[in-house]
Amino acid sequence: MNQKEGRKMSDFRINKMLFPGGKRKALTLSYDDGVKQDRRLVELMNRYGVKGTFNLNTACFGREGTFAVNGRIVDDSTIAIEEVAQLYEGHEIATHASRHTALTGCGSAGLYEVLKDREVLEGMVPYMVTGHAYPFGMYDQDVMDMLRGAGIRYARTVISTEEFNLPQDFLEWHPTCHHVNPRLMELAKRFCEHDGSGRDGRQPLVFYLWGHSYEFDRVDNWHVIEAFFSYIAGYSDEIWMATNGQIVDYVTAHRNLVFSVDGSRVYNPNAQTMWIGSKNNTEVFEIPAGETRRIME
Ligand SMILES: [Zn+2]
Repeated sequence: MNQKEGRKMSDFRINKMLFPGGKRKALTLSYDDGVKQDRRLVELMNRYGVKGTFNLNTACFGREGTFAVNGRIVDDSTIAIEEVAQLYEGHEIATHASRHTALTGCGSAGLYEVLKDREVLEGMVPYMVTGHAYPFGMYDQDVMDMLRGAGIRYARTVISTEEFNLPQDFLEWHPTCHHVNPRLMELAKRFCEHDGSGRDGRQPLVFYLWGHSYEFDRVDNWHVIEAFFSYIAGYSDEIWMATNGQIVDYVTAHRNLVFSVDGSRVYNPNAQTMWIGSKNNTEVFEIPAGETRRIME
């Protein structure tokens, strides 16, 4: 191999995955249990252009109740089934076990909990429902295998990484942090000011925030999430606001890209445009669906 070819191969190895529009960062949210406070959260998300995934328990819709905390009474109700499609429009709905059952050690009953959610939720939206959040954060290898068999492609844990890496396995998707994390704004600042190179220099960054919207009422801290959205929105030119499913779709499709043996050309067999960045961060390549593009001289 001569020197020129050697350079080409090293350039090829460090092409970077970029998100749509050539962006190097994405923000996604994941909120659980389908409670009425989701109305206020969705309104805030829509105002700031933030996207997210809402993990719902289909046997728990329409529950009415209250919760006493520090002498205050807060709503502890879930939304009605009729409200789901409209409330979460523009976002994503996903499974969270029909009756909010911990799926560890419950065998085929757990499979039913997830398939039931898929069946009911897919009756409300035009897309396939293939996301999940583990109830109580409980999961093991058996549960992950079961979810895979149930057609679930990605599932969120409750293990905060305080990092911005894409997961190795989307069925074990650890979030960046919960919204009560005292370092929330510090993490937001680190994310927004980051140069955009991920774990191995090849992957884009994801800030993955999770929680339950009823917590904002219980702790009386809606200002925390609004401050976070407001800060992030200031960087919206650089951040892809996406649902969990949109990120999984894009990353999965990106793995289908086909490179020529010398790394100079790439073929995009997918139905959506893919984006690649060059070694030195200076070039952004857009590869339209079904097309081949030259990515180096
Ligand atoms: Zn839950």
